Amino acid sequence: MDAPSPSQPFLVFGAPVLHEDEIREVVDSLRSGWLGSGPKVARFEQDFAAYKGAGHPVAVGSCTAALHLSMLVAGIGPGDEVITTPLTFCSTINAILHAGATPVLADVDPVTMNIDPDAVRAAVGPATRAILPVHFAGRPCAIDALVDIAAEHDLRLIEDCAHAVEARVGGRPIGTFGDFGCFSFYVTKNVTTGEGGMVLARNEEDAARIKRLALHGLSADAWNRFGDQGYKHYFVVECGFKYNMMDIAAALGIHQLKRVDANLARRQAIWTQYDEALADLPLQCPAPAAEGTVHSRHLYTILVDEERAGISRDAFLEAMTVRGIGLGVHYLGVHEHPYYQERFGWRPDDHPASMAIGRRTVSLPLSPGLTDTDVARVVDAIGACLP
Ligand SMILES: *Cc1c(COP(=O)(O)O)cnc(C)c1O
Repeated sequence: MDAPSPSQPFLVFGAPVLHEDEIREVVDSLRSGWLGSGPKVARFEQDFAAYKGAGHPVAVGSCTAALHLSMLVAGIGPGDEVITTPLTFCSTINAILHAGATPVLADVDPVTMNIDPDAVRAAVGPATRAILPVHFAGRPCAIDALVDIAAEHDLRLIEDCAHAVEARVGGRPIGTFGDFGCFSFYVTKNVTTGEGGMVLARNEEDAARIKRLALHGLSADAWNRFGDQGYKHYFVVECGFKYNMMDIAAALGIHQLKRVDANLARRQAIWTQYDEALADLPLQCPAPAAEGTVHSRHLYTILVDEERAGISRDAFLEAMTVRGIGLGVHYLGVHEHPYYQERFGWRPDDHPASMAIGRRTVSLPLSPGLTDTDVARVVDAIGACLP
C-alpha cells in the first residue's frame, strides 16, 4: 500500500459550495435589519415553486419540520400507521412519531435501494393511513406504483425529497406526485440554506395551514404584522410550532437555487468518473439511472462487502479517513437502532435488503466543488485501501 499523504488537506464530505452572491445576499439581510421570516423567504418560496413548476410552497426550518407538519395536515395521528423505508435518516421515522403515528417499515429493492412497492402492498393494513417514500440518494423511487397503491387503499402520499430536489419521472418533478413533497436544505444537501426545508403541497388550503402551524398557529405571519402596512393584530387559532425559515437562510437558498442545474451537471460528471474508475474493482457501484428519469446524484454509494473486497466496511472507512478522504454512511437501517428496536421490537433481519446495504454502504465525496484532481485522489485512495 502507498503511504497516506498527510500533505493534502482533508476532503470534507458534503462540503457546500457558496459564492459571493450568497455572501452578498446574507450581508444585505444583516444590513437591512430584517433577519427573520420576511421578503427573502417569500422570494425563495416563489423561486422554488417556479423551479418545480407546480405545487404550493412553504419554507420551514428543516425537512424534519416539513415532514412533521405534512403529516399533521394530512390528518395523521395516534392509532394511524405510516409505511416507510428502513433505509433513511432517522428524522423520517421521528417525524412519524412526532405526529403520534406508528411507523411500519417496508424493505427496499436491493438494486435501486428504494422502497419496494410489493413490500408496501404487503404492509398495508386496516390502520394504514399514509405512505412516506424516500427518493434515496437522488434516485426517484417507484413513484407511479406507490401512487396506485395510495389510490387503491385511500392513503395519503408524502414524499421525502431530501435527496431529490432535481429529480424527475417522465418529466414530472419529484415532490409533486404525492399530497406533499418535503425537501431539505441542510448543509450537505444539493441546495443548502445552512438549515432549512420546504413543503410543496398539492393543495392551497393545506399549504396555508402548514404556514400557520409553522409559526405558532398565528392567524397572520410576522411579515404582515411588522411590515409598513400598519400594525396588525394576530390571533392564535391553533397550537402551532416554531418551524419558520429565517431570511438569512433564504438569502443563501435564492442563489443556491440559481445554480442547482449547473451543480447537478458537475455531480453527474463526477459520478461518471467514479463509474468508470471503479468498474473493475471488487465493489458494488450504484445502479444506472432508470430510463425516462432524472436522478439527482445526491449520494454515490458503493457497497464494500468483506468477502468480495477483502476489507470490512468499517476498516475501509478508517483507511480512507487516514488518507484524508471524508466519507458518509447512508444509512444503517433504522431497524438496527436501539431506540426503535426497544420501542417496536424491530429485528435486523426483518428487512434483509436494508440490513445488507446498511452494513456495507459507503458514500463517496460528491460535492460539485470537487476538482478532477480531488476525484482522482478519491479513486487512488480507494485502490490503495483495497488489499
Ligand atoms: C437530511 C434528511 C432529512 C432531514 O432533513 P433536515 O432538513 O436535516 O431536517 C430527512 N430525510 C432524509 C432522507 C434526509 O437525508
